[in-house]
Amino acid sequence: MCVEPTEPPPNRLTRRGVLAASAALAGTAAALGAGTSQAAAAPRRAARAGDLVVEGGTLLDPATGDVTEDAVVVIRDGVVRASGARAAVAVPDGVPRLDAHGRWVLPGLVEAHIHLNTAAEARDAVRKGATSARSGSTNFFQDVAVRELARQAPEQAPRLKAAGIFVTPDLGDTILADPDLAPLARLKNGVRSADALRRVVEVNLARGADVVKTRVNERAGLPEQDPLAQVYSYEQLAEVVAAARRGGKGVLCHSYSEAGCHDAVTAGIRSLEHGVFVGERTLHEMRRRGTYFTPTLTAMAGLAKSSDPVLAERGRTYLPILKRAVLAAHELGVPLAAGTDSSGGSVSPIGGEVELMHAAGLSALDAIRTATTGAARLLGLTGTAGRLTRGHAGDVVLLTGDPLKDPGLLKSPSHVVRSGIAL
Ligand SMILES: [Zn+2]
Repeated sequence: MCVEPTEPPPNRLTRRGVLAASAALAGTAAALGAGTSQAAAAPRRAARAGDLVVEGGTLLDPATGDVTEDAVVVIRDGVVRASGARAAVAVPDGVPRLDAHGRWVLPGLVEAHIHLNTAAEARDAVRKGATSARSGSTNFFQDVAVRELARQAPEQAPRLKAAGIFVTPDLGDTILADPDLAPLARLKNGVRSADALRRVVEVNLARGADVVKTRVNERAGLPEQDPLAQVYSYEQLAEVVAAARRGGKGVLCHSYSEAGCHDAVTAGIRSLEHGVFVGERTLHEMRRRGTYFTPTLTAMAGLAKSSDPVLAERGRTYLPILKRAVLAAHELGVPLAAGTDSSGGSVSPIGGEVELMHAAGLSALDAIRTATTGAARLLGLTGTAGRLTRGHAGDVVLLTGDPLKDPGLLKSPSHVVRSGIAL
């Protein structure tokens, strides 16, 4: 059962309406009063969107744990130019101020697993504090369009790493997402052969995906599925990883069973998603390889509250197991990343995942790192996201209290700044 030997898609982003969709989204944003991308600046220019001074708050640097009272963060053109104690920072004249007295000042949060299908969801996510994010895939490349929206109108969406479409045996309607997927429609057993797996990855890369999302187990969120049943073997996962690597991309893998987690990790994935039953053998392998763990505790806590009795029971059973896995991973030195797995309209605040990481046993600072420096490294955004030192993006959340005492405060920032624009 082979895919027809047609030409692989060319490795270009600007194909078949992707940019048309992006332009439509960005046009909507511009009509709403965005417009931050401007032409070359005069040597001394007036303040403009992307210029902001955040002053008077208590600054926390997640990398060092340092806390600075009466701090100033100077953002110009969306980038931090200086930050620190007021006496040590030269504050430029004529730049808009955001008064942060009585607030804690943290870098914008990094959400490592979210499904953003619409501009409204993207706006919701950024307003809840996720100024950077990694997609967990969308059915029709909507995440690629959201990423372009974020580039043109940063206050409308998180800075996004797009995953494109899910590499899964049954593509369903997603078969219509790109003409190069059409030959796969004739496969009786779905996307399982090496050729078919490669094809889906290559279509993703051609459409501009930054990462590749696949799976080893069935879903927990569907009552008729057994999340411990394995859908891809080690060999199939290795094929996906190799195809992604040829395009310089890493793979995130939906996983539940220990056997599945082990196959995924040893096949070379970059991050394990969900991973409820991940065992010690696999955690050691993850530490050795530097594989990330994105447990999406928020999704599991949500399942426990489901109106479907099968799902609710599953969530109640899985959540404590997952929390123990998170703590075991952390104690072994496996890097953790915060992700909510939000999808389908309602975006969960990424701060809630930080709170659950803390509830699983991480210190408040380590929990905050899973949504700042840690997740930034997973997304390839070290130096851009996760801190507010010079050269980082001007992404800020203000909190009404001390998150080292109560990480739950991250769920509801009083202000969010994205690329120097106060939302
Ligand atoms: Zn997901």
